[in-house]
Amino acid sequence: MTDRSQPETPDQSVVEAYLSSQKDSAAANPAQDLGRGLIPAAPEGFRSGFVGIIGRPNVGKSTLMNQLIGQKIAIVSPVPQTTRNRLQGILTTDTAQMIFVDTPGIHKPHHKLGEVLVKNAQSAIGAVDVVLFVVDGMEIAGGGDRFIAELLINVKTPIILGINKIDARTDLRQSHLDAIDRSYQELAQERGWQVINFSAVTETGLPELQTSLTEKLEIGPYYYPPELVTDQPERFIMGELIREQIILLTREELPHSVAVTIDRVQEDAKITRVLATIYIERDSQKGILIGKGGQMLKQIGSNAREQMQKLIAGKVYLELFVKVQPKWRQSGLRLAELGYRVD
Ligand code: GDP
Ligand code: MG
Repeated sequence: MTDRSQPETPDQSVVEAYLSSQKDSAAANPAQDLGRGLIPAAPEGFRSGFVGIIGRPNVGKSTLMNQLIGQKIAIVSPVPQTTRNRLQGILTTDTAQMIFVDTPGIHKPHHKLGEVLVKNAQSAIGAVDVVLFVVDGMEIAGGGDRFIAELLINVKTPIILGINKIDARTDLRQSHLDAIDRSYQELAQERGWQVINFSAVTETGLPELQTSLTEKLEIGPYYYPPELVTDQPERFIMGELIREQIILLTREELPHSVAVTIDRVQEDAKITRVLATIYIERDSQKGILIGKGGQMLKQIGSNAREQMQKLIAGKVYLELFVKVQPKWRQSGLRLAELGYRVD
């Protein structure tokens, strides 16, 4: 275990500087606020901008963003729709700065939260400089992919079609592989999109992806200090780390029925104390979450704590509470209260 006074990574001090600058100031523009004395002048020819990562659930958007920026900030899980809020990851190279916006998977909405997720994804498309449309290279283009392709039809932003998971294609028959590739080529050719194959897990093709993204950005400044990897406050990431463990360990209910708030973070010299509440919708879910003799909740807490310790490079004491809050998903107000962006 590492002592808080000796951070493992230099990123941490910058995140802390950001957090305290946020606390000290009510300024509306965090990028500017953050930049006081930290943002250098960009060298000549430097490019920068926002990259929207879109795609249907489970294609590997979060994995890709984490890999590109080299740190785990978005939660990854085999269960679809685990990314709720837009999450910005920042990649700074010698020649460019890309701010990645990881969007919730786009899908047909079934209830209020679903609608919010789709709206967030759509507004993300309109607000970025480059769109990276990620698809699953193990499957033929499907209805979900076409639904997104339709959304992109009137978008003027440059678009790259990223075919992910090429590492996992070795077991597929050649004829099936050809059919997969043809389905995406058709999608891309019709619209003049550039196609790049890669694996977010093995990193094959990621340098080429990075080069293409850079080429599509305009000449621009540093938006954030070069050392910063995310613009999300630590608290939010902590909540996501807890939610990730719930999803991974319970597997019983869709992640939609669980929300996490970080109620208190108290930093002492040797340890950071974190109090968090897990919200569920039904009393019946309590048993699943807590488990026999509290084993499940204990495991969730212990795993999440481990992840948090990596995030802050120090010791964490984590206390979890469970609250039943019927129908929180249906209520926009409740969603906002719980920290979700409701546009
Ligand atoms: P998202 O819903 O699009 O954000 O997808 P995630 O990043 O959460 O990933 C969904 C699942 O796909 C996880 O189980 C990942 O481990 C897996 N995955 C993501 N990228 C790759 C890849 O390049 N290769 C393989 N084999 N699996 C991947
Ligand atoms: Mg995701």
